[in-house]
Amino acid sequence: MSDRAAAAIALEKRFGANNYKPLDIVIERGEGVWVWDVEGRRYLDCLAAYSAVNQGHCHPRIVAALSEQAARLSLTSRAFRNDQLGAFYEELIAVLRPAMPKAERVLPMNSGAEAVESALKLARKWGYERHGIPAGQAEIVVCAENFHGRTIAIVGFSTDPGSNGNFGPFPAGFRTVPYGDASAMAAAIGPNTAAVLVEPIQGEAGVIIPPPGWLAEIRRLCDAAGCLLILDEIQTGLGRTGRWLAAEHEGVGADLTLLGKALGGGLYPVSAVVGRADVIEVLTPGTHGSTFGGNPLACAVARASLAVLRDEQMIGRADAQGRRVMAALEAAALPGVVAIRGRGLMIALDLDARAGGARRYCEALAAAGLLCKETHDHTIRLAPPLVLSDEEADAIVATLARVFAELA
Ligand SMILES: *Cc1c(COP(=O)(O)O)cnc(C)c1O
Repeated sequence: MSDRAAAAIALEKRFGANNYKPLDIVIERGEGVWVWDVEGRRYLDCLAAYSAVNQGHCHPRIVAALSEQAARLSLTSRAFRNDQLGAFYEELIAVLRPAMPKAERVLPMNSGAEAVESALKLARKWGYERHGIPAGQAEIVVCAENFHGRTIAIVGFSTDPGSNGNFGPFPAGFRTVPYGDASAMAAAIGPNTAAVLVEPIQGEAGVIIPPPGWLAEIRRLCDAAGCLLILDEIQTGLGRTGRWLAAEHEGVGADLTLLGKALGGGLYPVSAVVGRADVIEVLTPGTHGSTFGGNPLACAVARASLAVLRDEQMIGRADAQGRRVMAALEAAALPGVVAIRGRGLMIALDLDARAGGARRYCEALAAAGLLCKETHDHTIRLAPPLVLSDEEADAIVATLARVFAELA
């Protein structure tokens, strides 16, 4: 490691909170699927900032939108109107509508966790005011192994002890059922259920794809009970799985869909709750807000981020390249791999428990020029930017094959 890299790492360790365990690669530049470290070494980024960089690093059109808007107007607060917000709403609804007939209104926020929190507030308020739930009794059903962010309410219904240990007490009103279990879901939904909140594919849990028909069955259960279906597509949405929304694979439309990550093109945090007018309408002036939510810089960046996904056919590319990588992975029969799962460019490899842990693999892959991150102890996620070329897709599999053979 160079002195520069070592110095940067030493400063982080000396002055920073220790809530991450990053690989010791100090990145200073990015372009498309590639990043470069301070020593000038190039890596293919197979994490894409947890799908926040679907459009590729520093996409020129999004960078241009950001710098033009930053030079013109960045923040007004919602005390005044700005010229970007309405166009952002309209354009977001236009790209989602074919997949989500109930994409009628948008509530703009910043981080993903804020979009989730906002949806929980919406569901409760709607439950009391429009669904006849007695005061203080609203319930929201969630799934085990979920990941929805890091606020107190959200980690309170996480089942990961690392996420919620010693952070309580937590808000009441959440019920947890196993992911992919339709009968447990049916049993958990009752007259006081305001909403069901699920990820259409569980990302942080290790790219867990539920059984076919499960999401459609939840849709049916929510319709029968008259409660809301909230889909957290913060990681799965905006092309990652080869569709605008992962729920499209199941032909399901949510009442509220949560977006974040790639909505800001990897340049700026932008999130949103999109959904039914009669639900989002329960918010009236003064009942919810955010200083930065819907700011003109965020809106300009999000508009460009959506335009790039659409105009450069990135959704179709994710679908095609996902199939290419999956087929090549299956054919490569990588030693130490016991399962391969994926949809579009959201792919996971499960390692044999005797392989010595995914971390060791990620370190060796980084040394070979492929940046991957382990999720849990034995799973490696592959989620490169959607701008991946055929050659780059093949290079990922070739590098995996070489490194896995060395480590076997
Ligand atoms: C990343 C993520 C979040 C939280 O987003 P932040 O921007 O980190 O707050 C919520 N839900 C899912 C499914 C995510 O992947």
